[in-house]
Amino acid sequence: MKPPVFEYHRADSLAHACELLTSCGDDVKILAGGQTLIPMLNFRLARPKVLVDISNVPERNRVTEEAGGIRVFATTVQRFVEKSAAVQRRLPLLYEAIQHIAHFQIRNKGTIGGSIVNADPASELPAMALVFDAELEVMSSGDTRVIPAAELFITYMTTSLGPDEVLSSIFFPEPPANTGWGFHEVARRSGDYALAGSTALVTLDATGVCTQARVALFGVAPTPVRATEAEDLLVGNRYSAELAREAAHVIHDVVDPESDIHCTKEYRRSVVEALTVRAIDDAFNRRSPHRAPSDRPLHA
Ligand SMILES: Cc1cc2nc3c(=O)[nH]c(=O)nc-3n(C[C@H](O)[C@H](O)[C@H](O)COP(=O)(O)OP(=O)(O)OC[C@H]3O[C@@H](n4cnc5c(N)ncnc54)[C@H](O)[C@@H]3O)c2cc1C
Repeated sequence: MKPPVFEYHRADSLAHACELLTSCGDDVKILAGGQTLIPMLNFRLARPKVLVDISNVPERNRVTEEAGGIRVFATTVQRFVEKSAAVQRRLPLLYEAIQHIAHFQIRNKGTIGGSIVNADPASELPAMALVFDAELEVMSSGDTRVIPAAELFITYMTTSLGPDEVLSSIFFPEPPANTGWGFHEVARRSGDYALAGSTALVTLDATGVCTQARVALFGVAPTPVRATEAEDLLVGNRYSAELAREAAHVIHDVVDPESDIHCTKEYRRSVVEALTVRAIDDAFNRRSPHRAPSDRPLHA
């Protein structure tokens, strides 16, 4: 199928994109990598009158190291971030997650900002924004504001961004020293969207006690979700296989999956619990010197 007719504007900068969003009426969409928007146009699932293309702005493909974390400019393609040595070194969880997005050809075009604003609950990057407590810098004509990731996702493919706003950058805080991470998802084939996924960041003190835990789930609710009850269970405790199982068991208050042509909601509910056990297990295991090998659960 071909897309419906639209007016096309190429923005010279994100500030120019903001001006175009304000001046081109109320049926305008930003076009970034086009890896979601173009198929939606072709299938006539979206019919905006105007597209504002931000794929060639000078801010494109920029990752900067800052005190306390890494800033990724929203127009940066996913593959660029995946290949960033700073990301691999300081945010290995983000590096791992990006490799699960589609295939590299798509990651060469799809942007970090496009994936986050698209807010598909099965996507990896919205879950990354949540688990890192990322800060999203958003621009509109003459204004800039920062949205905490926890306040961004409203429901399926809907965020708290206004129609005149453009996501300009995402700041991923670097977790404290002695933080381990875990990331697990299940997809029908490599490169497919996840049916369900779970990710964890666990910080330990010098004695192996968990001082901070974050667990985020994706593909199992209308938005990616933080499993705060599970996090609370982990904090103050040392690793045990039983603790990981117990924490994974209490995620169900935030899990609200749907059945679709790919699998049933019961499958999603059950598999995300198993994935959470693995994510927590890895997060404790990756940096912790305090773990007896016999504690390690068997993976299927
Ligand atoms: C075959 C295939 C498989 C895929 N598999 C996966 C997968 O496994 N996991 C996954 O997460 N994704 C997957 N994707 C989606 C891919 O990651 C997309 O790149 C991403 O979702 C959208 O990024 P984009 O830059 O292409 O955005 P676009 O498609 O250009 O835009 C998407 C939406 O975001 C808005 N937008 C984009 N940038 C901004 C901005 N800076 N500010 C405000 N609004 C903005 C647009 O207006 C539009 O509504 C897949 C895509 C394809 C085609």
